[in-house]
Amino acid sequence: MRRRSVLSALGLGAGIGLLPAPILAGSLQAYPFGVGVAAGDPAPDGFVLWTRLVTQPEAEHGGMPPLRVPVRWEVALDDGFRQIVRDGEAMAHPELAHAVHVEVEGLLPHRRYWYRFHAAGEATSPVGTVRTAPAAGAAVDRVRFAVAGCQHYEHGFYNAWGLLAREPDLDVVFHYGDYIYEGGPGQLGMRGNGVLAVRQHVGGELYSLDDYRRRYAQYKSDPDLQAAHASAAFACSFDDHEVDNNWAAGIPEENVPPEVFALRRRAAMQAWYENMPVRRAMFPSAPDPIAFRRLDYGRLMRMHVLDTRSHRSDQPCDDGRRKPCLREHRVEGTLLGARQEAWLEEGLGGPFTWNVLAQQLLLMPVDLRQPDQQHPELATDVWDGYRGARDRLLGAIQDRGLTNVVAVSGDYHRNLVGEVPLRDTQPEGEKVAVEFLATSMSSESPKAMPPAEHVARLNPHLALLDDERGYHLFDVTPERMVADLKSVATTKRRDLTPGPVTRFVVMPDQPLLHRD
Ligand code: FE
Ligand code: CA
Repeated sequence: MRRRSVLSALGLGAGIGLLPAPILAGSLQAYPFGVGVAAGDPAPDGFVLWTRLVTQPEAEHGGMPPLRVPVRWEVALDDGFRQIVRDGEAMAHPELAHAVHVEVEGLLPHRRYWYRFHAAGEATSPVGTVRTAPAAGAAVDRVRFAVAGCQHYEHGFYNAWGLLAREPDLDVVFHYGDYIYEGGPGQLGMRGNGVLAVRQHVGGELYSLDDYRRRYAQYKSDPDLQAAHASAAFACSFDDHEVDNNWAAGIPEENVPPEVFALRRRAAMQAWYENMPVRRAMFPSAPDPIAFRRLDYGRLMRMHVLDTRSHRSDQPCDDGRRKPCLREHRVEGTLLGARQEAWLEEGLGGPFTWNVLAQQLLLMPVDLRQPDQQHPELATDVWDGYRGARDRLLGAIQDRGLTNVVAVSGDYHRNLVGEVPLRDTQPEGEKVAVEFLATSMSSESPKAMPPAEHVARLNPHLALLDDERGYHLFDVTPERMVADLKSVATTKRRDLTPGPVTRFVVMPDQPLLHRD
């Protein structure tokens, strides 16, 4: 115990000016688990358990009083909690929006557990389940993971989360970001005109810590999102809309002085931490959070979780507004930053059957010019805007002779599946990885695509481009990786009817896609 808690335990704080905030012991005014529970970042011996006490998601401070609240947690071998193997107490502080992060240790590898919380000795949370990772170096038969993100609350209901919650035996869900969108009600996001809102954001555009907190609480009040979190561990990252559209490290989208934008970014990143089941290493005490990390699954799979937002240089060609933005304009710059780039290169390869690059943005080159357009139409916020950085990454994969790299990503609000060419000017040439860019859970993209045969002619490495809503599910074994692109029938009403599934298969000895 630290000095202050020793003193307060002895009732000695008051006399020497160390009086802590009072503790709420009992008599909560309403059920405090209004945004559910979550687990994250599984290791062989444990995981993070998360909850945030909220009685009214849309109210100031989530309806919670400005008091500390003691929260007990329990981890059991069964969903009836007859065999509790770990338990303890954590404090929910108003400074952290009454969020609780517990890093549980000392558990057995690759085994399912159940968990729950009790607040102020009187209210019990819903039950969540989570599986630890396999032991380091172990031979592993199978791992199943999902990739999901881009969940604009106004664009659609979370039917895709409801379906994901029913997937059996999920080891981890990689969330590539856009967990929230920062716009006010009816500001339906970039180029969102013409999208039908099915529900409304509370509050205007987000700037303050309380704004971001309330937006997370509103999104997390959704029962299907809560069910998905309760069903499996998440590995959470963030993209642009957790802060501001298309931000790049210290640079906002609009012309705002950097020291002013820094305040907004700080508030946004604190709220992100408060609302995600992430480790204390991601506590927002530094100006740049260190959110990149690895999740290993024995010898079967290493997942490199990247942060393509916090350490990048500015987008080229005035964020793509200056046209044409030619390929040769885009050789400068970094998407990962020097430190993360070195960290990634150092950890690529090793004894793993599969290397998964879990990141936010389209990795392969994709030219979506219209038939009457002379110059390539390449997005500038994705790896196409950072060609030199992409050349370095793909070169590192090739130098190591790796054939087992699978990039997963999102952001585009479409499904895009393809083989990543070594040289972006030769898309029909040598391939170094495969990429599965998952479509959005609910966010729409009203941007018109060129005719399909035109896209195929310009992008021979692209195997699929479609406009479903849903997520990707990966079944990983030593012999092959099976990718199911899952979709929902609708997002315009709450309805868990599945839509079509498209399947691809990849073998670890060749970065090529096979249809199944
Ligand atoms: Fe998005
Ligand atoms: Ca995005």
